[in-house]
This record gives sequence, C-alpha cells and structure tokens, in this order.
Amino acid sequence: MSRVLIVGAGGVGQVVAHKCAQVPEVFSEIMLASRTKEKCDRIAAQLPRAIQTAKLDADNVAETVALIKEFKPDLLLNVALPYQDLHLMDACLETGVHYMDTANYEPLDEAKFEYKWQWAYQDRFKEKGLMALMGSGFDPGVTNVFCAYAAKHHFDEIHELDIIDCNAGDHGQAFATNFNPEINIREITQRGRYWERGEWVETDPLSWSMTYDFPEGIGPKKCYLLYHEELESLVLHLKGLKRARFWMTFSDQYLTHLKVLENIGMTRIDEIDYNGQKIAPIQFLKAVLPDPGSLGPLTKGRTCIGCLMKGVKDGKEKTVYVYNICDHEACYKEVGSQAVSYTTGVPAMIGAMMMLTGKWMEAGVKHMEQFDPDPFMDALNRHGLPWKEVVK
Ligand code: NDP
Repeated sequence: MSRVLIVGAGGVGQVVAHKCAQVPEVFSEIMLASRTKEKCDRIAAQLPRAIQTAKLDADNVAETVALIKEFKPDLLLNVALPYQDLHLMDACLETGVHYMDTANYEPLDEAKFEYKWQWAYQDRFKEKGLMALMGSGFDPGVTNVFCAYAAKHHFDEIHELDIIDCNAGDHGQAFATNFNPEINIREITQRGRYWERGEWVETDPLSWSMTYDFPEGIGPKKCYLLYHEELESLVLHLKGLKRARFWMTFSDQYLTHLKVLENIGMTRIDEIDYNGQKIAPIQFLKAVLPDPGSLGPLTKGRTCIGCLMKGVKDGKEKTVYVYNICDHEACYKEVGSQAVSYTTGVPAMIGAMMMLTGKWMEAGVKHMEQFDPDPFMDALNRHGLPWKEVVK
C-alpha cells in the first residue's frame, strides 16, 4: 500500500495514471500533478477509481516541496520533460521521497543526453537512504532490463549489443512525432554515437543505416544509427561488452520533412529575436505540429523494440534477440494512447512497483540493469507488454 505522485500529464502521464490505477494493491493513493491542471482532471475522469490532481510547476522546487508535504507520497514518478529532472530530484531530497524518471536530464540550451548531471546526485541520495531510478521507460528502460535478463540467463559475456527500435505504425499525417516533438527532434538531429572497444565513435546525424528484418510479419525496415542514453550506463554495467549501438526506423517521408525543417532553421534550440520576443524555433515548431496525444485514435500498426545480443556461453558463441511487439490500436482501446506512450508508461508503472514493493530498493542513483531483471520481466508479461526471445 503506497502513495505515488505522478508528475506530467502528457501522452506518457496518461498511460502511467491508467496503469497505476489498475494496480490498487500497490498504488493505493495516486496524485497526478502537472503544469496544466485541466489535463490532469481530464485523465482522472477516465480512470476506474478516484485519484487526486494538482497544478504544479515542476521547475519550482519550493512548489514541489509544498505539494509533497501535503500529499506525502512514498515515490515521485516523473513523466514531465527531461528539463525538470534535477528540480524534481532536489525536491525529493529535501522531503525524503524516492524518485524515478523515464529520460535523462537535459539542459534547455544543450541537447546532450548525458547522465553526468544526475550521477552527481549519487552521494546525496545515498546519504539520505533514498533511491533514484533512472530511465524506466522502454528505451531507456525495458531495453536495459532485456540486457540484464540475457546476461543473467543466456550469456557468460555479451560482446555485441544492437538495440533496435521500430515503429511500423502509421498515423496518416504528413509529419508528426509520436512523443514530445521538441525532445524527439533534439534527439534525432544530434550526431550519432556508438561504443566500440572501450571508446565512443561519432557519426554524422542519420548517416549510418541498415535494413533489419523484423519478426511476426513486420518485415524488413531501414534503421538509422542514433546515440541513445541507455548506452552510457550499459557499457559500464555489461561485462565483456565490445560494441554497443542503437538503431531506430524512420520513413523516407519523415526524414525528408526533417531535413527541410533543419535546413530552414526550424529545429534550432537557441533563441532568436522575433518582433522583440525571444523564441527558440524548435519550441515554435512544437506548437504548430500535431499534439502526439491527438495521434492516438489515428495510429494503426505495431511497434517492435528489442535487443539483439551476441556473446558466449560455456565457451560457445550464442545470439539472443529479446523483443516486444505492441499494437497501437489495442493500446488506444485500453488507455486512450498510442503505443509509443504505452510502451513508455507501462514500464514506468512497473519500475515504480518494483521500488514500492521492495523488489528493487537500494539507496543511490541507480540504473535498471543493476537490479534482478526477473520480477520486472514477469511484470511486463502481466501488465500489457509481453516479450519473446529467439535464441540461436
Ligand atoms: P508530453 O509533452 O506529452 O508531456 C509532458 C508533460 O509534462 C505535459 O503534461 C507538460 O505540461 C508537463 N510539463 C512540462 N513542463 C512542466 C513543468 N515545468 N511542470 C509541470 N509539468 C510540466 O511528453 P510525453 O508524455 O510524450 O513524454 C514524457 C516523458 O517521457 C519525456 O521526458 C520523454 O522524454 C519521456 N519518454 C521516454 C521514453 C522512453 O522509452 N524512455 C519514450 C518516450 C518519452 P503541459 O501539458 O502543460 O505542457
């Protein structure tokens, strides 16, 4: 029986609220707080049981501290934007509450995707006996757990890791992103990076691609090498790793639009002066693009995200592919969101459940692969993200 404060009422917040409400034996009291209270109230009205809602500016530490003191949660589950991570961690430290998120901290004016800012909280969380769980979404999140699972059950050493994220869905729009457009475009337009023989190798943005034949009828799709934040912790924690890469599928239509937007300066994250007002072009772009939440009823098809791992067991070479396939329309039917929000929100709920039931609890700033993967893998099967494996 625990109290959870969910911060952020966007696409992912909607799924997290639904999924936590489905597990009253763990989440006995729920509060959903976000910048726009109406969004929290709209989500609350869809749920099978009553939850509390509140207006909160998560960048204002004093405001979060006051809300925590009023609601007294055991855990703060952060599904606002990466910019809020440090402010929310500060509020948790001040009030003695465990913390969890789904994306690493990013400064507004730099698209960096590094854990260094959150790792700097290690000693403070340890001293207070509090845990901060990093990145409990799908990627990062489930992908880290798939690696831990394979390391525990299939390999003595994993030598090569390819995380492959495929969205084979179609929303019928000329150009739209499936989660927050600003965060999504910042991630895709940065330089690519992968890890090989102990060092990071950089590539030009979206300059490397491969075709991967996805299972269960999804078929071959072009995937592009990106840097993704889970690589940073996985290269530290996976024994014997020689190469780690991350790939994502994009359609030609998506990439053509993105190229044009980039070429004309619309993806810039630095502020420009417009009629005496400072605006970052990417924030203006976000305001004119379709709201990812509005894509829910329009999106058809499936996502397939998995980890392809090569390594050795008892001196023999082995290949293991662990993956989940998720259907956009089935997600919308269950929780009113498409699969990209669903595949993030379900693991966020499960990460919170692991912490609150004591299955994963250790003071400090922690990553998903540092814990026993078995209870998490079991919970994925029970809460809407069943996984499969192919072992060769
Ligand atoms: P949305 O933009 O749909 O939602 C973000 C929510 O946060 C909105 O409700 C927004 O409020 C709220 N918010 C923003 N700033 C503040 C603030 N200062 N104080 C309070 N609330 C605030 O994003 P998503 O739901 O798509 O994504 C949520 C998080 O999930 C992001 O961090 C994203 O990076 C992460 N993510 C992780 C994935 C993974 O697999 N690990 C995959 C996809 C997303 P308002 O409604 O007023 O704008």
